[in-house]
Amino acid sequence: MKLVIAQMKHETNTYSPVPTPLARFAHGSDTPPEGSAAIAAYRGTGTALGAFIELAEAAGAQFTVPIAAGAWPSGPVHDRAFDHIAQRICDAVARGCDGVLLDLHGAMVTQSHDDGEGELLRRIRAIAPNVPIAAAMDMHTNLYDAFAQRVDVIAGYQTYPHIDMFETGQRAGRALLAQLQRNAKPTMAWGRQPMLPHVMRQGSDDSPNRELQARCREMEAQGALCATVFVGFPNADIEYAGLSAVVVTDNDPALARRWCDELLEMAWSQRAEFVYEVKPLAESIAQAKAFAAAKPAGSGPVVLLDHSDNCASGGTMDTMTVLGAILDAGLDDVAAFAIFDPPAVQQMIAAGIGAPVTLSLGGKLDMPAIRLKGEPRSVSGTVRLICDGLYRNQGPMARGEMNDMGPTAVLDTGRVKIVVISNHVEPHDLAAFTAVGIAPERQRYVMLKSRIHWRAGLRPLAHAVVECAGTGVCTSDYATLAFKNVRRPIYPVDPM
Ligand SMILES: [Zn+2]
Repeated sequence: MKLVIAQMKHETNTYSPVPTPLARFAHGSDTPPEGSAAIAAYRGTGTALGAFIELAEAAGAQFTVPIAAGAWPSGPVHDRAFDHIAQRICDAVARGCDGVLLDLHGAMVTQSHDDGEGELLRRIRAIAPNVPIAAAMDMHTNLYDAFAQRVDVIAGYQTYPHIDMFETGQRAGRALLAQLQRNAKPTMAWGRQPMLPHVMRQGSDDSPNRELQARCREMEAQGALCATVFVGFPNADIEYAGLSAVVVTDNDPALARRWCDELLEMAWSQRAEFVYEVKPLAESIAQAKAFAAAKPAGSGPVVLLDHSDNCASGGTMDTMTVLGAILDAGLDDVAAFAIFDPPAVQQMIAAGIGAPVTLSLGGKLDMPAIRLKGEPRSVSGTVRLICDGLYRNQGPMARGEMNDMGPTAVLDTGRVKIVVISNHVEPHDLAAFTAVGIAPERQRYVMLKSRIHWRAGLRPLAHAVVECAGTGVCTSDYATLAFKNVRRPIYPVDPM
């Protein structure tokens, strides 16, 4: 048995001004890892690719990994980057194989294609019309027919924060192996609802996504090969942004259809629960102060979430609105993770550890798509730490995967320790803090540019959580996003 195993992962925020060339997938090299380098980077990690490699080795299969290309969310993927990645995968398939296992995102938009994954599949099917293909997908998939029609098996993450990437790879991989080894016949049904669940309401610990995902797992226990609800990614102005479901059964298309429809109806009936109410920032800061004043000594930090600017949803991580409010309010004993500002890092490196500096911090990127000008803020302090910004996730999310913040420095204002980074990284892992010498559990406050993923590694530490509406391309305000291409009507943008 010969398998092609590959990764092509990017969640595209079509409003983001951050470009997505091939280098963003390459993590410091010229191109993303291929072959033995890709296997070495992902073997043993808690990712779908890691699961595919483990399954292939356990099955005694021959396999190749032509490319492992994953990048933090940002603007539309450059055509040259997409062509490079797709070509590597197509070349491997063209050399001949019995099955293909793909670790995809599902919300990739390229300069030329709203449905990057669908275009990849179109190219693969032009070479191999009948080879079995299974895909592990992110829960934020925006599902297009052109993609779903061309794969045999789809399995999506069932957790947000995404702590089941490995298990999702196992479910997709096992269904493909069942097809190859036991003559299982995957039969798939999929569908969409005209609704845009808000990301802040999508956590799988929270209702209604908790119940939707539980029902998916129940269907799998009752015999579905894979059952998935994709909550979708709304910061993408494309026709099929939004919620969808996919059920794969073994040779029972009617059951796949019935279960898929059940999931879609369940989601639609709960649509109001997916709507998020934004609170004024001043109210959030006041609430954080009240929590801090009342918290017992030794309890964990009050977490302030700057949820309009998280890079795992394509945020630039350089808006200063929430951090500015924290500085203005005089909050003390704060750690802030993080501000993306490579020139500010270079200024701190030039000054050296212990040196006083005044930075024009953040606000380097304009965001024309949401009519926002970058606004740096003058911040003074002492350079506390300088490092290379490399750390390995300790989990539970993407355990073992390497992260690269690029050259990184910590500015200490006396009240606030600000981590300043040169590559986008969302703080979902405790190692992001230990890499810069900060123990978040000992802080009075921790500011995170995150929406839901921070829960994976940091929620157990938090005494209380306050959601802070800042500015950025992950805005919670659908009016600001002013959809032009999303199909209409769609809930809750339009009356339904
Ligand atoms: Zn996701």
